[in-house]
Amino acid sequence: MTTGRVRRCGWLAAALALAAGCAPPEPVEVIETREAMNTLVTVRAVAGSDSAARRALDAAWKEMEEGIKHLDRHLPDSDISRINRDAGRFTIEVDPLVTSCLSAAREVHDMTDGAFDPTVGPLLELWRKAQERNRLPTEEELSAARALVGMDAVQILTFLAQKPLAELEPLPSRGGPMPKPEDLVKPMYLVGLDKEGMALDLGGIAKGYIVGRMAQRMVQSGVLAALVDTGGDVYAEGQRPLNLVAPGGDRRWGVGIQDPRYPDDRTRLFTAVHVRDQAVVTSGHYARGYTVEGRRFSHIIDPRTGWPVNERLASVTVVAPDAATADGLATAIAVLGVEKGMELVEKTAGVECLLLELGETPDDGAEPPALIAHRSSGFAALEFDPSTTGGRFALRPTGRR
Ligand code: AMP
Ligand code: MG
Repeated sequence: MTTGRVRRCGWLAAALALAAGCAPPEPVEVIETREAMNTLVTVRAVAGSDSAARRALDAAWKEMEEGIKHLDRHLPDSDISRINRDAGRFTIEVDPLVTSCLSAAREVHDMTDGAFDPTVGPLLELWRKAQERNRLPTEEELSAARALVGMDAVQILTFLAQKPLAELEPLPSRGGPMPKPEDLVKPMYLVGLDKEGMALDLGGIAKGYIVGRMAQRMVQSGVLAALVDTGGDVYAEGQRPLNLVAPGGDRRWGVGIQDPRYPDDRTRLFTAVHVRDQAVVTSGHYARGYTVEGRRFSHIIDPRTGWPVNERLASVTVVAPDAATADGLATAIAVLGVEKGMELVEKTAGVECLLLELGETPDDGAEPPALIAHRSSGFAALEFDPSTTGGRFALRPTGRR
């Protein structure tokens, strides 16, 4: 009955719109860019109206700020800084997004046999100091820092703290106020590090985690499609409506993958992929890292040796349904290398990767080295030629922080 009535109203509205000579409104796309997380963050929202798209963008920015506030270890009051300051002493009450990001980190740690390890903080500090004093760390220094690395020594606790009704003073039955629900059952989120000197660093996963949450927030606010892009971490939600796609074009989002031999040229793409409801994350060594005794070292550290990873594997791109997982896996594969990294991707459902390895540099050094591309079995099916986009795609080079 009700359905029939609603349907007739819909017909009536469409008939009236047609009679008045106006077509139903077409979806619109609103794009905003801000500087955050050491990069430019671009967010695109496709919605039924300009105001709906703007509401979604506002929600996404708020989510980003919330994520940074709790997860950035360079902010002295972030939850991560508080956990690190009290390592070996106290367990700290944190925002639920910290335990959820850490749980994602633990999952990637377990999947990668520890190649991804968010407790690499002491090793990062050792390499930062090595750069500062321009002297390579000694074996003793490396093993002392390695002894402070390990997920086993991270306690992540989430539970419901309950205040029994009988403990409320005075009881509601004796004229006291009705208890607030949170007084009866309060979720608690706690994190602690077992040893003094340990330090969490979520630099390898936090950006992906935040990008994923920003997209989720936009979905909750009713977007038809959305894209969050930080350069290295992208999440593409849904498909673009026909009115926003070039005739005959693909409705999925197009994401460019930068050629790592030209780190300063973000327009030089190696390839591009079409995705929907997927994250595309690239880890590369360019832009950051350490220079010690005239040698350049990657910012990604192998937690097992304490040494920065080999930079021959110049870029690792991971496509996965979840942005935090994609981010963590891209960092981990830079540690695992081509063979083990590819093996892991092939056995993980829904995950694809492109690994770009530098070949020999020609003798005269005038030409850049060749690139050796390693694709997982499903990667090629996502690829398209980036020169054919006609400028109407949301084509964003990734891989540069
Ligand atoms: P990404 O750019 O996502 O590959 O992350 C690199 C960042 O992750 C570094 O700057 C460090 O903050 C952190 N990191 C370095 N090595 C590791 C590792 N083996 N596991 C987890 N995080 C790491
Ligand atoms: Mg990463």
